Amino acid sequence: MTTPSPEPADPPPRPPPLFRLTHSKIQQFQRCRKQYWFSYISGIDWPDQVDSPAALVGNGVHRAMQKLCETGDPADGEHELDLYLRMPKHESAGPGTEYHAVAFEIYARGVAAHQSIESEERFAEMDTWVPSPRRGINVRAKVDRADRLAENRWQLIDWKTGRFDLDDAVDAQLDIAHLVLRTMLRLPREATVRAMGWNLRSGEQRVRELTRDDAVKTVDYLSRLAQRLQDLTEFPATPGPQCTFCNWRSRCDEAATNERIGIDWLEDEWEREAEPF
Ligand code: SF4
Repeated sequence: MTTPSPEPADPPPRPPPLFRLTHSKIQQFQRCRKQYWFSYISGIDWPDQVDSPAALVGNGVHRAMQKLCETGDPADGEHELDLYLRMPKHESAGPGTEYHAVAFEIYARGVAAHQSIESEERFAEMDTWVPSPRRGINVRAKVDRADRLAENRWQLIDWKTGRFDLDDAVDAQLDIAHLVLRTMLRLPREATVRAMGWNLRSGEQRVRELTRDDAVKTVDYLSRLAQRLQDLTEFPATPGPQCTFCNWRSRCDEAATNERIGIDWLEDEWEREAEPF
């Protein structure tokens, strides 16, 4: 008689997947919870993104700055920018348009910015996930350029190309980019980082001085924010100027109502009679 083999043990339960966070996801939650719902909760396919000419200028200059950072030769970036803007689908910023000329002006300032940076080593386009299983989150961000200025002294840059930047959004983006730099290069505790949003159109630099302690506090903040996002049950629309740039606008009843009849409660008879303001 054979002895029955023991029942195989159940595999250990899998830990829940980490909650993914990006700067863009956080921004959408802060701008309008309905936009966040459309993008991350609804399961609806994202609408096709139509790049504005200004966005094409930004993308083209970022590509050119990457090539420039990689080789140090301005001609490589210039060639990339030229190729990118000559692509048929980018014709709205193609040769002969005002956007095309602006792109090359911005890139020229980018070359001057590149030449002004003295560093021992440099990296372009660092992009990674920063997982923190203990906190249940996985944060993704990108660094346009990183420079080692000296031992344990680093600089990261997020190139900006728009007419203006929102300071609080830039600061939040830099804090998350800082996590990427520390993770990818395994910076030691004592390393300090100057994180900079550098607008190549205006020349403005937004600078944050960051330490390892700041990185830990950023991740702690993000984990609390992630918990809040996961607990959300209501996603009200908050129409405003941001609707102009919202990809979900054509499907958003609240934005359409605002456009069609203005602020409906203000138009109600009883509100006008009450003269609330
Ligand atoms: S169109 Fe405006 S109100 Fe509607 S989801 Fe987008 S940002 Fe929100």
